[in-house]
Amino acid sequence: MTNADWANKDFYKTLGVAKDASAADIKKAYRKLARANHPDSKPGDKVAEDRFKAIAEAYDVIGDEKKRKQYDELRSMVGSGFGGGFAGGRTTTAGGQPFDINDFLGGQGGGGGGFSDIFGGMFGGGGGPRTRQAQPRRGADIETEATISFTDAIEGVTVSLRLSSDAPCPDCSGTGARSGTVPRVCPECEGVGMVAASVGGAFTMNETCPACHGRGLVVDDPCPTCHGSGRGMSNRTIQARIPAGVKNGQRIRLRGKGASGERGGPAGDLYVSVKVADHPLFGRKDDNLTLQVPVTFDEAALGADIKVPTLNGAPVTVKIPAGTPNGRTFRVRGRGVVRKDGHRGDLLVTVDVQVPAVLNDKAREAVQAYREAAAGSDIRANLFNGGGAS
Ligand SMILES: [Zn+2]
Ligand SMILES: [Zn+2]
Repeated sequence: MTNADWANKDFYKTLGVAKDASAADIKKAYRKLARANHPDSKPGDKVAEDRFKAIAEAYDVIGDEKKRKQYDELRSMVGSGFGGGFAGGRTTTAGGQPFDINDFLGGQGGGGGGFSDIFGGMFGGGGGPRTRQAQPRRGADIETEATISFTDAIEGVTVSLRLSSDAPCPDCSGTGARSGTVPRVCPECEGVGMVAASVGGAFTMNETCPACHGRGLVVDDPCPTCHGSGRGMSNRTIQARIPAGVKNGQRIRLRGKGASGERGGPAGDLYVSVKVADHPLFGRKDDNLTLQVPVTFDEAALGADIKVPTLNGAPVTVKIPAGTPNGRTFRVRGRGVVRKDGHRGDLLVTVDVQVPAVLNDKAREAVQAYREAAAGSDIRANLFNGGGAS
């Protein structure tokens, strides 16, 4: 049993022994580490499981006199610069000399194991998705939506979000074994997850172990919940802080709140698309709030102090000067949206001059009197002289 990654792995380091350690010392180190990291003693601990696999793989090689010798030879070649040109093609150089892989393999007697396995694995790219085992993998990003009120968008709010994501099966903690039992190390691949498969001629390729599908562990009594896969869905509720000033349609990124990572990898991120509900009175323009305020003709003509509501606070008084036209906007400072720097935008009050639909007798008389008083000025004069331009 050999593995494509020999060249890149320091099995001595994995077992914590010196390169010239005796076979007895290697065995002793292996036993100690295997016991400490065995899935029996730490069910569901993925890190320990991966470490256990790495220990088994290392011992498989340097615990075997013949394989250890091959491994040492390969490592010394890699160390002397042989490894640099591997990936590309059949011809590379060893110590500056042209080198043909076929010559080399011929000298080793073909498919009987040893180097042909190593090179086969390298040239074949490992033959499967698990070429590199036990690499930490970052958890997936998760997308979700939250609808918040207009006021909460202005002030910021903490929302509870229910998330569904891939997670270890809760009943077996991801081991795939029925509760109360534990998986055992795969006897086919001895926990490595890969086996050598002959592809004809001198070459062999490493492929995912068919007995354990690359896990390195086999389950005799599968967990009834996940049917031995060890995977499940988790429904969790998290508290997410939506910052003050969020806009409708904005996407908020919450680092590390996505799916949890595998084999010690970091968690993914959570993206929350925020929908902001409309407010019956207030609108929004960037950091400013907007408000339409009806005013009467006389207020606009004579001027007035008018009381207007604010979104989250006491009403404020806006001074409308005499002669204010319809549609003019007044600014109330600091009553808008909280900006990133902590300051607030403004409240923009736009006057909407109302024409009374019905007049009582007294009001009609007053307006008649106004018409007579204001007679003499023709506000449409410009329409008939070309806009006053000529
Ligand atoms: Zn296996
Ligand atoms: Zn399960």
